[in-house]
Amino acid sequence: GAEGHDDLLAGLNPQQLEAVTYRGPALLIVAGAGSGKTSVLTRRIASLLRSREAWPSQILAITFTNKAAGEMRERVEAIIGDAARGMWISTFHSACVRILRREAQQFGFTKSFTIYDSGDSRALIKRLVKEHEADAYGLTPASVQSRISKLKNELSDAEAYARQANMSDPAERIFVELFTDYQRQLQKANAFDFDDLIGQTVYLFRAFPQVADTYRRRFRHILVDEYQDTNHAQYALIHELTRPVSGESADPYASNGMMIFEPETSPELEGASLTVVGDSDQSIYAFRGADIRNISEFERDFPGARVVLLEQNYRSTQNILSAANAVIGNNFDRKDKKLWSDKGDGDMIVGFTGYSQHDEAQFVADEVEALHRAGMPYSEMAVFYRTNSQSRALEEIFIRSAVPYKIMGGTKFYERAEIKDALAYLVAVANPADEMAVRRILNKPRRGIGDVSETAIARFAEDHGITFRQALSVPDQLGFGPKIQAGIAQLDAVLAEATEIMLPASGEVPAPTTVADGLSVLLSKSGYLDALRASRDPQDEARVENLDEFVAVARDFARNNPEGTIVDFLTEVALVSDADDLDDESGSVSLMTMHTAKGLEYDAVFVTGVEEDLIPHRISAGEPGGPQEERRLFYVGITRARKRLHLSLAMTRAQFGEVSVAMPSRFLQEIPAGLIDWRQSPGDVNSRGGSQSRALNARRAGGFGGSGSGDRFAVKQLPGRDSLKPLSTAMDKFPNRVTAKMRDNGDLELAAGDRIRHSDFGEGRVDAVTGEGAKRIAHVRFDSAGQKKLLIKVAPIEKI
Ligand code: ATP
Ligand code: MG
Repeated sequence: GAEGHDDLLAGLNPQQLEAVTYRGPALLIVAGAGSGKTSVLTRRIASLLRSREAWPSQILAITFTNKAAGEMRERVEAIIGDAARGMWISTFHSACVRILRREAQQFGFTKSFTIYDSGDSRALIKRLVKEHEADAYGLTPASVQSRISKLKNELSDAEAYARQANMSDPAERIFVELFTDYQRQLQKANAFDFDDLIGQTVYLFRAFPQVADTYRRRFRHILVDEYQDTNHAQYALIHELTRPVSGESADPYASNGMMIFEPETSPELEGASLTVVGDSDQSIYAFRGADIRNISEFERDFPGARVVLLEQNYRSTQNILSAANAVIGNNFDRKDKKLWSDKGDGDMIVGFTGYSQHDEAQFVADEVEALHRAGMPYSEMAVFYRTNSQSRALEEIFIRSAVPYKIMGGTKFYERAEIKDALAYLVAVANPADEMAVRRILNKPRRGIGDVSETAIARFAEDHGITFRQALSVPDQLGFGPKIQAGIAQLDAVLAEATEIMLPASGEVPAPTTVADGLSVLLSKSGYLDALRASRDPQDEARVENLDEFVAVARDFARNNPEGTIVDFLTEVALVSDADDLDDESGSVSLMTMHTAKGLEYDAVFVTGVEEDLIPHRISAGEPGGPQEERRLFYVGITRARKRLHLSLAMTRAQFGEVSVAMPSRFLQEIPAGLIDWRQSPGDVNSRGGSQSRALNARRAGGFGGSGSGDRFAVKQLPGRDSLKPLSTAMDKFPNRVTAKMRDNGDLELAAGDRIRHSDFGEGRVDAVTGEGAKRIAHVRFDSAGQKKLLIKVAPIEKI
């Protein structure tokens, strides 16, 4: 358009301006939440393109989620238009898949390789653990999987591990065997697991320098968002890509004839320019091998790097920021950076303590409704929790209160058994070497092929040096009776028919909807759909609907990717991550874990379950640096809010069938008391007991004024509320670890056969009482709420 460079730079503060316009080999932008890191990265790309310093194809930008990648692409395109086509803006995983699809045949894979998600690798490891009888050595599939993953993130392999392990320890030996075998099975199946996508790309670049040079020539500008969460393998990948091109492998058209721009440039080339942005206070993936040192050592690794600090926050009001600063200030070993905002103090943070998680969820639902009535769209609100299981109570209440919501965690859909089955059918067509996929559908629907027959097929394949899939094409030679033979023949025929539709012979132009058509053929002719339809199980009805939805996803894919193949479709599905919701229709409240919330922002945010053992999570207590990482996670959570922040907790929480007493999180106490307007403080709940006082407060609270004044919410003035002193002065309203101050039913005599009334669950009959003293538990069968275990001392119950 007519715009010059100016509109691109408009409104940037001086530090941001420098971050966008600095030119040099390496640039590090470090800054707290909401200071414009991602925005600056986006504008930097636009600026490189608009000034014609770079072709779109020379740009490689890495984001943390596919959703973030899509948004960044849209924004760049909005600024400079169609000229932006051809950029690679993607996650580490997507970028590596693209590279591997092109280069896989260089090292023994084909371009139609399968991507194993963590469930797939778990299944494979489970089988191997069984085969190696490794459980006898205390090796569980989960522990083996996480150890292998950790090693891969450090770019280690079984061989390297064996060199430094104590191999006289049988458990270590078995682990090395498992790791080796796992890798062999992946190779045999023409498959990569998630960690391999990165690790094998690094391996590829190191083993085949001429391949690496192709990409080094191509990508002249590499930009990485959320750099604090890169692990060693990802770091190594960036390092490989930014090396200078030696000039020894001077063929600019090497490697599959990939288009190289500016072929006239001299074959020797200095390394690509690298820009990374990050915030070490938001590093929340140490458990997956992320290494903050990647930030702190950037200057050492890239000498002469320019460092830019951003300090103004453009997202949140000052009250929210002050809370965030206060909390994160408790982490030691960090550079203090003070974020500030010119948006004014804004509303106070709202605090609420529910008696139970249902009570807490009801508060969230009521508050969402109040905000909505006051004009805030549902899509501008988000509810966060630490663990996925916490979403249940919220969902129940949201459904009952008719609050529209969506769970961010797109993977859930793809974790359903019927969708996994449908995917296995597709994989069996696209990558017949993938034995696990073929085995999965062997007896789905039932064809009378049991474990014994399955093993026999596997043995036949091995004896004859063919794949499992190929064995299915000779059903009459497998030595089975007519029924099994017929079943296998039918499966073979269905797969063959779908292959013809979805993988046309070379030269043939595939019709645009082939994936969806092939999928329909697979599901109907295999008898899979019929079996579900014939079932009386109401769940199977839902499964049919889900499969319909999946076919619709495939049709959408064909519409958006007219030349997309079955392999492209499977890639897209495999890389759907937690933050990528299936339908992006707005108009609903977003529910997600705090991990998923990274990088996002909403007008109103509810951080729920702010309790000890949840945030910080119980498992973090024993990990070195665990509580500090939890504090960063909490910091990520609260810094997502633009205008309104709600912190809530419950005093009792039922999890895994146990009811336990919850304590307010230590992080709450780190927030200056004067910033929080407690609608119901932990102290209130203890002195008056749950639901009644809540109902009372809800009545008193009235609606949301919308004018931005916190006063309308100031239901109760709590002592110390007006001072900005740390909570120690107001601590007396916390029952901080003093259980004695909790509601006390200590002397309530209960025995089997008694009838009781519970404030949430209604009436019920005591089946048994176990435990002693403060830990006495009543096992109650409620008339309508089912069986529950209640801690007698604190449960809101009375004998009737
Ligand atoms: P996080 O650490 O959470 O990833 P971030 O540093 O990436 O945050 P952005 O998401 O880029 O921050 O920006 C936060 C918000 O501030 C966005 O809504 C963005 O549009 C806005 N913003 C950034 N810079 C400016 C500016 N100079 N003027 C006005 N708004 C800005
Ligand atoms: Mg960001």
